[in-house]
Amino acid sequence: MLRCLVAVTACVILAASGARAADVHAWADAEVERLIPLYEHLHQNPELSFEERETARRIADELQAAGCEVTTGVGGHGVVGLLKNGNGPTVMFRCDLDALPVAEETGLPFASTKTAVAAGGAESGLMHACGHDLHMTNFIGVARFLAAHRHDWTGTAMLVAQPAEERGNGAQRMIEDGLFTRLPKPQFALALHCDSSMATGRVGWRAGYVCANTDSCDIVVRGRGGHGSRPEGCIDPIVQAAQLVLDLQTIVSREISPFEPAVITVGSIHGGSKHNIISDECRLQLTIRSYDPAVRDRLHESIRRKAFAVAESFGAPEPTVTFDEGTPAVFNDEGLVMRVVPSFEAVLGEENVLPVEPVMGGEDFSFYSLAGVPVFMFRLGTVNPDEIEAARREGRPLPTLHSAKYAPDVRPALRTGLVASTQALLSLMPPRVE
Ligand SMILES: [Zn+2]
Ligand SMILES: [Zn+2]
Repeated sequence: MLRCLVAVTACVILAASGARAADVHAWADAEVERLIPLYEHLHQNPELSFEERETARRIADELQAAGCEVTTGVGGHGVVGLLKNGNGPTVMFRCDLDALPVAEETGLPFASTKTAVAAGGAESGLMHACGHDLHMTNFIGVARFLAAHRHDWTGTAMLVAQPAEERGNGAQRMIEDGLFTRLPKPQFALALHCDSSMATGRVGWRAGYVCANTDSCDIVVRGRGGHGSRPEGCIDPIVQAAQLVLDLQTIVSREISPFEPAVITVGSIHGGSKHNIISDECRLQLTIRSYDPAVRDRLHESIRRKAFAVAESFGAPEPTVTFDEGTPAVFNDEGLVMRVVPSFEAVLGEENVLPVEPVMGGEDFSFYSLAGVPVFMFRLGTVNPDEIEAARREGRPLPTLHSAKYAPDVRPALRTGLVASTQALLSLMPPRVE
């Protein structure tokens, strides 16, 4: 149903915006080459979440040079550029500033050699392994396009460069620091994310849920330590933890409807120090994924209940169960998707605008919709089609996002990103009436 309506609207928009489409392709071809040095600079100088000082400074300078009114230091290193162009809607476009503690293995001539001390204290390589360098470069290109094509739109473009996406709370901090009170609250918010399996030249879209609720949970299971030869005098936290790992498996399989996506993974378990010592405690770290808020609440309640029940069954002290770093699910507004997707089809061709499946990964773009702004995050193809075909023939997987080997095919990906992003924004901001 949605698909049919989108196709019909596409024809209307195509007719209305033919002149704009021709213009944007020529502009994007030239702009990509002007943007490549910025991309390589950002790629070579990644910074961790909450530490994006130099990245934020460069983005602020670029926005300023493009003609934006710039506000820095919003919720940490967040930067906002406003382009005002008369009466009309305020439309937000967002990119993310942070990189990951990954040692790059792409072999690119401009590969990152930076290192940093990651959370936990270990020294690590640093890399834009999630493609945020491409997001930022595209974002600056969008600012330049809007500044140079003021006759094509009216309203206010709100360009938001957000810190700490990878930690799941940079958006929240910007909102808490007055993003939508000190600065205008937009009618719509758009963003794109690199896709590590989609061919360049293409974009992907979906209405409704696209990314999951993601939560971390830490459990400390307690016992009473002692000699490994005298279990009767101890309460063994390792056996208790083992029991708990198995009990946790029945939450998704027995308590949640098969029609509701949910995941509980125990990603780490640490306890004890030596063969013949029963320890005092054992620590577990879980990741939890879902879409529906009620399912999310149920998963949390059930994990807590299972942990306390296992402790009680062992006659053990109560465990500690804490939930952290929660990112709510991203829900693409259906009405907004239907307004924007036809603009993609008009400039890229219907065959290059693909419906995509949701993922169980997380994205803190959701915080903007929880603050009352309809959002649409679309995906940008970043893989050379020949590389996709070669990988398929050879039966080898392509590097995923967050992989040390992820290297987007920058020029064609950026070109499509610029065309799609600018046309998406124009579709929400009416042209100036001469
Ligand atoms: Zn990421
Ligand atoms: Zn990302």
